Amino acid sequence: MARVINFSAGPAVLPEEVLSQAASEMLDWHGSGMSVMEMSHRGKQFIGICEQAEADLRELLVVPKAYKVLFLQGGATQQFGMLPMNLLRGKKSADYFNTGEWSKKAIKEAKAFCKVNVAASSEDANFSYAPDASTLKLDPQAAYVHYTSNETIGGVEYHWVPDSGPVPLVVDMSSHILSRPVDVGRYGLIYAGAQKNIGPAGLTIVIVREDLLGGAAAGTPSMLDYKVHADAGSMSNTPPSYAIYIAGLVFQWIKRQGGIAAMERRALERSGALYDFLDNSRFFKNPVRKQDRSRMNVPFTLADSKLDEPFLAGARQLGMIELKGHRSVGGMRASMYNAMPVAGVQRLVMYMREFEAKHA
Ligand SMILES: *Cc1c(COP(=O)(O)O)cnc(C)c1O
Repeated sequence: MARVINFSAGPAVLPEEVLSQAASEMLDWHGSGMSVMEMSHRGKQFIGICEQAEADLRELLVVPKAYKVLFLQGGATQQFGMLPMNLLRGKKSADYFNTGEWSKKAIKEAKAFCKVNVAASSEDANFSYAPDASTLKLDPQAAYVHYTSNETIGGVEYHWVPDSGPVPLVVDMSSHILSRPVDVGRYGLIYAGAQKNIGPAGLTIVIVREDLLGGAAAGTPSMLDYKVHADAGSMSNTPPSYAIYIAGLVFQWIKRQGGIAAMERRALERSGALYDFLDNSRFFKNPVRKQDRSRMNVPFTLADSKLDEPFLAGARQLGMIELKGHRSVGGMRASMYNAMPVAGVQRLVMYMREFEAKHA
């Protein structure tokens, strides 16, 4: 068996240990005589799996008691609509930061429900930085403030938390959740699709302060009402049970590695190795302002785009895949989530050094 070095932005690499454990438990989970996929979601066994996953996630992120953890479906994209449906609570507008492809999509969706006040934007520089805290134009009447704390496509990460005062702060953490400590108490709602840093596609995690529940607009379908899911312990209907089980195995893997602190150390090591190389290269370039660079997603370009295809082909030959940048921005992108071994990035850097020496 040969495993590739997978730089995919998502669905993305998972810890090998987790995949092996899932394989060994596939036909017979803990003597139950069945796969987790075959279990009733209302049975004792699956309820136990789900409760353990929630408890481990709460422990890892130090989630305060006043917050509910929800296991939903529909991806982060469904959250773009659920947020205004639930959080406007009679108000007419919400504040959004426009800092890349994902915040643009969140804004577009919200506009169907309310007035969007763009409180900050980095569009003037092709989304290559996070706005400075001093430039935010927040509206104290806004229903909530939304931002994307790691822009997966642009490779921009906020290394600070905006101060929204008493207005609930809402964040899309899809592509860097569990890679660094989070002060959950600063937020009204945190959401993340699982397929970047948590587990398989099909699961979306929402962490929401309890006082924000129960305000869904009239006519909101029950599946899109946070309170319905919160009251039912995410079991209002059949949850994505197998994805929850794998996410639970990932949470246990993170705990065995040393928790969020260990994930952050590795993220700094991986991204540091790649940025150090990029900063010393005259052939490869990263467009993002230094203090806002992402530890998870690193876009870069070659001095000559005619060499893009040969670069990708050479990488593939060495077992390194999914380095092509997003279709909206071109160039290359290396996504390096929690499960990416540091050695995988070191291999990439070695290849880039050799490629530069040959072509520069
Ligand atoms: C991938 C991603 C999304 C979209 O996730 P889906 O699960 O495909 O809906 C949204 N926001 C961010 C920051 C992402 O990285």
